[in-house]
Amino acid sequence: MATLTDRTRSVLPEISRSVLVVDDDRITRRMISKILGQSGYQIIEATDGPAALEYLATQIPDLILLDVMMPGMSGYQVCTEIRKQVDDDSLPIIMLTGLDDIESIEHSFEVGGSDFITKPISWPLLTQRIKYALRSKDIYQKFIEKERQLLYAQNIAKLGYWEIELTSGALTYTAEAARILGLDEGVKTLEQMFMHLASDESSQLLMQIKQAINNHEAYMATHSVSLNGDERIVAHHGEMVEKIPGVYCLAVTIQDISERIRNEELIRYKTFHDDLTELPNRIYFHDQFMRNIKQTVENEKLLPIMFVGLDRFKKINDSLGPLAGDQVLRSLALRLSAYDYPGFFVARYDGDVFAVQIPNVSCIADIEVHAEKLHSLLAEPLMIMGTELYMSASIGISVFPLDGEKKDQLLKFADMAMHAASSEGGNQYKFSTFGEDEQALKHLQLEREIRKAIKTFQFEVYYQPQIDARTRAVVGAEALLRWIHPEQGFISPDEFIPVAEEVGLINPIGMYVLESVCETLAGWNESGLGQFRVGINLSAAQFRDEDLVAFIKTLITVMNLRPEQLELEITERIAVSNFDKSVAVLKQLKEIGVKTSMDDFGTGYSSLSYIQDLPIDTLKIDRAFVKDINDAGEHGEIAKAVINMCSSMGIHTIAEGVESESQYQYLKFNGVDEIQGWYFAKAMTAQEFEVFVHDHNARYGLNSLA
Ligand code: C2E
Ligand code: MG
Ligand code: MG
Repeated sequence: MATLTDRTRSVLPEISRSVLVVDDDRITRRMISKILGQSGYQIIEATDGPAALEYLATQIPDLILLDVMMPGMSGYQVCTEIRKQVDDDSLPIIMLTGLDDIESIEHSFEVGGSDFITKPISWPLLTQRIKYALRSKDIYQKFIEKERQLLYAQNIAKLGYWEIELTSGALTYTAEAARILGLDEGVKTLEQMFMHLASDESSQLLMQIKQAINNHEAYMATHSVSLNGDERIVAHHGEMVEKIPGVYCLAVTIQDISERIRNEELIRYKTFHDDLTELPNRIYFHDQFMRNIKQTVENEKLLPIMFVGLDRFKKINDSLGPLAGDQVLRSLALRLSAYDYPGFFVARYDGDVFAVQIPNVSCIADIEVHAEKLHSLLAEPLMIMGTELYMSASIGISVFPLDGEKKDQLLKFADMAMHAASSEGGNQYKFSTFGEDEQALKHLQLEREIRKAIKTFQFEVYYQPQIDARTRAVVGAEALLRWIHPEQGFISPDEFIPVAEEVGLINPIGMYVLESVCETLAGWNESGLGQFRVGINLSAAQFRDEDLVAFIKTLITVMNLRPEQLELEITERIAVSNFDKSVAVLKQLKEIGVKTSMDDFGTGYSSLSYIQDLPIDTLKIDRAFVKDINDAGEHGEIAKAVINMCSSMGIHTIAEGVESESQYQYLKFNGVDEIQGWYFAKAMTAQEFEVFVHDHNARYGLNSLA
């Protein structure tokens, strides 16, 4: 019967290592036990193979010394069995072979022996051999452990690795890399490696990798991989490394970052959305506002903010319970988010308050349309827990930039407007009046519309006849610009001319008027209607324009007009704002034969003293001095004085705004030269003017001015 002895020595190495000695020779076993025992090893002796295998079934020593030549099971057989039975490659099995028995040494390695010691054993060396065998076992085990840890770490981190050697083109990759990229075995080329990528992504990636290889530089890339309906995001980080001197390879870690990205997305989503309604929350609303502001400024549009507060929401919560309240909010959120307008943005701003931004709105009227639509959208009945509910909302509106340009201010105004709407009974919308500036609003809208009008030819020149006071003959007309807006209809020049002047759009408008008038005059000249004189209003900017005189001169020549057919009207204000300059320009105009007039005399400085220093031909007495002249011929003293003074200076006079026979008679009696006013005619189109002239001449038995 084979025996197993356990000889534990009292003097043990720091960590006692166990050695299983398998030898049928008792002497050898005892010697080994003695020598190794002295060095602190724990020795287990087995007299044959079966005894050894029996022991190994329950315990694993740190090392095995195994005699090759044993009766029954040979050492080779035992070794083969041990390797089968024990799942530890690092377990050193040192075979005890015959001296110089090369064959048995070779055989020992074949069956799984780690090393050999020849018999007779050199006792002094035995301890050393054992020590070093155990040391290399330790190193090997540490290495295996490291590799295992690395593998775990890589698995946990979903980190794969691949490399390509530049000269040989050999491609190697780890199992995790294969898992991440969905690779089968035997992938040999980069193209095969990225076969699960969409074709454009794969060609883009291959280009990046090839570029990194050619330029010996690092690269980073992210792409998606589609595997059996599973979409994953993979990040690459590649670097060129010199493996051994002169041999370079591109070493790449790849990482499946899908989960991270998904988590990040989830976090981002949660940060910017409301849990209950899934609508953007207040933070998102503020961010979006800053983006919209930028766009609004660029597009020169308006950005309304609407605070939509649900009326009597608390009652629903109280009577039907908070779950019903939640359902109301969710249903209305759904309705609002389906609102069909590009860029429309709705957020849940507060408990029962939604907030809306509507970018790229052109005018207040459009904002009203949106407010009405939203209002009726919310008013549609709701089915909540089997109950039909009718909700209504109080909507407060503030508008960037009309109510201000600062976010907080606009939000505050919208909120205040909402509360005002609510406290006035709810179920309505209200514009903020807190920062509203009527003038600024109109101004902004007009400016935008004027730009459009120029492009789309919405302007037309009208002509208001000017009548010789004595003969009643039509001697000319004043050109008055009309803006026929496709939606808003007629817009008065008093409204848009000052804005156009302010925003620098008056020059293109003015040029259009000049060209149009000259063309019309040329037509009348040719048709024989009459050689009329047309008064054209000049704005300050036009009058100060260096090219004005040359431009008019060219027009006259091209259109073949007589220069005196044009009478340029400037106001007192323009004339006195830079008196010397005005005198110089008026002189230049006189030189080319064009007539000039002082318009609206009486509305500005009304100082007759400087009139004599201005080289003007005509003075237009403003309606202000005409309108009060009554049927009894009273209140016309100023007009009369002006006429007298002008006639003494040789200045022609035209009375504006004459609306009645008695005004006409009074002015005629007091020597005015011409009459312009509704009494004879309002401003009309060029075609209407032609008809007017014919009718007028026929009525008063006059001939044309040809
Ligand atoms: P304005 O040059 O003094 O033109 C006379 C204004 O008085 C015109 O108003 C005319 O329609 C109005 N008017 C004429 N007769 C009567 C009347 O009997 N009763 C009343 N109540 N009003 C009468 P409109 O056309 O609205 O033009 C207003 C102003 O706009 C003009 O005043 C002129 O300063 C400016 N404007 C008009 N066309 C042009 C233009 O082509 N260029 C420039 N720069 N300004 C223009
Ligand atoms: Mg005028
Ligand atoms: Mg006038």
